[in-house]
Amino acid sequence: MTPAPPVSAGGHDGGAADGRRTIAVVPHTHWDREWYDPFQTYRLKLVRLVDDLLDLMESDSSYGHFLLDGQLAVIDDYLEIRPEHEDRLRALAASGRLTVGPWYILMDEFLVSGETIVRNLQKGIVRGSAFGGVMEVGYLPDMFGHVAQMPQILAQAGLAHAVVWRGVPSAVDRTAFVWTAPDGSSVRAEYLVAGYGNGAALPEDAKQLVRRLGSLQDEFTSFLRPGEPMLVMNGSDHLRPQPWLGRVVADANSLQDDFDLAITSLSAYLASTSSDGLTEWRGELRSGARSNVLMGVASNRVDVKQAAARAERSLELLAEPLSALFLPADRWPAPFLDLAWTLVIRNSAHDSVCACSADDVVDAVLHRYAEARQLGEGLTEQALAAVGRSMAEAGPVAVNPSAHRRGGLVDVIVPAVGDAGPDVQVLSERAGMPGTITLDGETVRNMLGLLQGSRIDDQSYVTDVSLAEGETGLDVTLVIGPEPRDGVPVEEVKRELFTLLTAQPDTEVRLIIDQPPVRRLLARQEPVPGFGWSRFTAAALTHPVRAGGDPSTGLTLSNGLLTVELDPATGTFALDGVPGYGRLVDDGDHGDTYNYSPPSHDSVIDAPTSVVLVAGDQGPVRANADIVSTYVWPEYVDGTTHARTGAREVVVTTTLEVRADEPTVRVRTRFTNPSRDHRLRVHLPLPTPAVTSRAECAFTVVERGLVAEGRDQEFGLPTFPSRRFVSAGGLTVVHEGLLEYELVDIAPGGDGSGAAASTLALTLLRATGMLSRLGMTLRPLPAGPMDALDGPQMLGPVDVSYALCASGADPYALAADVLVPLAVSGSFGGGHRPAQGAELTVEGAQVSSVRRVAGALEVRVFNPTDADTTVRLPGRSGWLVDLRGRPVTAFEGDFTLRSQGIATARLDT
Ligand SMILES: [Zn+2]
Repeated sequence: MTPAPPVSAGGHDGGAADGRRTIAVVPHTHWDREWYDPFQTYRLKLVRLVDDLLDLMESDSSYGHFLLDGQLAVIDDYLEIRPEHEDRLRALAASGRLTVGPWYILMDEFLVSGETIVRNLQKGIVRGSAFGGVMEVGYLPDMFGHVAQMPQILAQAGLAHAVVWRGVPSAVDRTAFVWTAPDGSSVRAEYLVAGYGNGAALPEDAKQLVRRLGSLQDEFTSFLRPGEPMLVMNGSDHLRPQPWLGRVVADANSLQDDFDLAITSLSAYLASTSSDGLTEWRGELRSGARSNVLMGVASNRVDVKQAAARAERSLELLAEPLSALFLPADRWPAPFLDLAWTLVIRNSAHDSVCACSADDVVDAVLHRYAEARQLGEGLTEQALAAVGRSMAEAGPVAVNPSAHRRGGLVDVIVPAVGDAGPDVQVLSERAGMPGTITLDGETVRNMLGLLQGSRIDDQSYVTDVSLAEGETGLDVTLVIGPEPRDGVPVEEVKRELFTLLTAQPDTEVRLIIDQPPVRRLLARQEPVPGFGWSRFTAAALTHPVRAGGDPSTGLTLSNGLLTVELDPATGTFALDGVPGYGRLVDDGDHGDTYNYSPPSHDSVIDAPTSVVLVAGDQGPVRANADIVSTYVWPEYVDGTTHARTGAREVVVTTTLEVRADEPTVRVRTRFTNPSRDHRLRVHLPLPTPAVTSRAECAFTVVERGLVAEGRDQEFGLPTFPSRRFVSAGGLTVVHEGLLEYELVDIAPGGDGSGAAASTLALTLLRATGMLSRLGMTLRPLPAGPMDALDGPQMLGPVDVSYALCASGADPYALAADVLVPLAVSGSFGGGHRPAQGAELTVEGAQVSSVRRVAGALEVRVFNPTDADTTVRLPGRSGWLVDLRGRPVTAFEGDFTLRSQGIATARLDT
């Protein structure tokens, strides 16, 4: 409620005038909405907690403040059960005693998209306005590390303060630092050295309380300057308020002269602090120097990570831009999108998407992601159908959901007229079915009774139907085409026909079927403008792909841009002559959902017992082939011997696909996981040795070295998360939900230079059986309850995909090609839309979001380069707005965006 001061405000040492140290006691609870218990179980406790809290705060003015964990979801969860208490909550919030928000939920920052982080903050701020506004502090108490751009995100929402715990590096040696984003935006970050529970469960006795404060002060003495206030966070995971707090604080103040205790709010405490003389830290916070970062959450439950990536993609990269651009403004599907985003935002909670949770919780998370994706995909289909309906001419139309002008592979159904030509691949062909069949009424009734709507099968739809009464019977004419068409009166005609047949059961019915011959093609579509459309036109192939070789000696897929050679001896493949791609390395994992941990007696399986190559499509548009490898993996890690034990056979099928005119090989690996307690990684050789990796992260690409900072309690394992791509040593890997990578095979450079990695290991699966565990090799103490779980073992089908490119192509463009390809819609023509065009042009930056806000188009862009850029929106004008939608500057046609900046442009209508 209290606006935070600007970061530069200084000069106030925050200490009490008489030399006593000010102790800022901030009562709170940390409310993991779901974790080792499911949501509803925790909510039963939440409702009791908030019931008691309201009674306590209303009856005891000495219990001055309470921080409801910085997330509005907690309020909504409560009000769903106790709607009658909304006024009580509002009154306490309005008086400044109860602080809410700014987040909707305390999300993980690395496992969700930048848009999910922004939408979460925006949803929190909007919801918080019903309670007099949110806490103006970027409260990030428990997230497993922090993304580099967080200071910029907070600054663009008007927040000058962050509060963090995990991930802070050893270079920070005070209880605060200046945290700077790659674009130079800064916030003052309060560092909770001992976590958000350093003052949890304070004693009821004042003398004991003073002793506790003394030992707290001793513990952090090196972090505190003389006279600086000490922040005491009075709460922890699911802890209830301590009703005696007001009394014991007053008693402690009258008892001694060392400390001056005050129950206060986080905002008020931060307003008393200064940024003078603080260390600056630039970029992400992923250090385990003083607290666990739990880096293994990026690779547990790969199904959850895939579901998250697909749901986010379906909303932010498909449903939103296509609905915003191709539907009239008044058909913007706001309620559906709000619902889908609420599901995605709820799932972004750190214990939810991180899947360090009970199996019931993970089931719920997967269900929410599935619903969000179903909404995203359904809305995408509706927008594409609208493009089809609006085309002037009939035939397939390709739609480009991304900002880049590009061609790409399309799968279309076209009339089978003449020769298909050299530049396409015919997948199937169906002869025409003209003709008239004369049937009795009963048979026609049965046949048409089976027809539900206009769909006959996936490639056949009734596109027109009519009924005529002739002198000698009834004529039913069915026109059948490859695409569904709106408004075909199938049901009406059926009803009319059945009525006539009921009246005259012996009438003869002539079924006249008009189905032209069609063929299904793969082709490379000519370039389509960014955010535009183009009638299907097969491009002449510059680099057609060809499959060659023999399955017994080796298969080759090549298009002149890259060559992939499959090796039947090893089950791996060579990329442009570099061998060894796709080597599957399976080792033991006696860790838990939070951390990988090798068993003390590990065994590593990295070679198959047999390999079979299977040829597939031969080109010229698409060529593919399978590597079918059989492995014998140990069955589990024995808890007594700490060794991998038993043997299970597994068949792993890896499909490699190369397309015409693309420098990329797409890889899909499928198997049924038979083993427990193991980690499966694919090893990808780097064309040149690398000392750093560059991985996509929210609104930027972060560069990381070969090591990570850790400590005895958590080894600094240099496995890192990437959002959709990671590049190293000339190789770019694009993936969907395979978030964890590590640079391995580290050796000194041949020329005597420092150590460099020659391989990127991408985690495909990490299977463990414990939520948390004691005595692990890389993290000896538990990070949560030591509950045995089935789900994280991931027994059953695993289906993972990634793509490789060694040509140095722009990774954002690669990610769009692989994950958001051209879409196709059918059209019957008769609309207004010409053969080609674009609804929006955005050049000079990466586009994160295109949607409608209050009817207007809103475009969010970011500049991941090291130089300023000009963002061009030809023909458009409007306002740059901050993340609260407040206007910042007007623009016309273009604007400058600083290096690593994020900008949101609201376009004039
Ligand atoms: Zn938590």
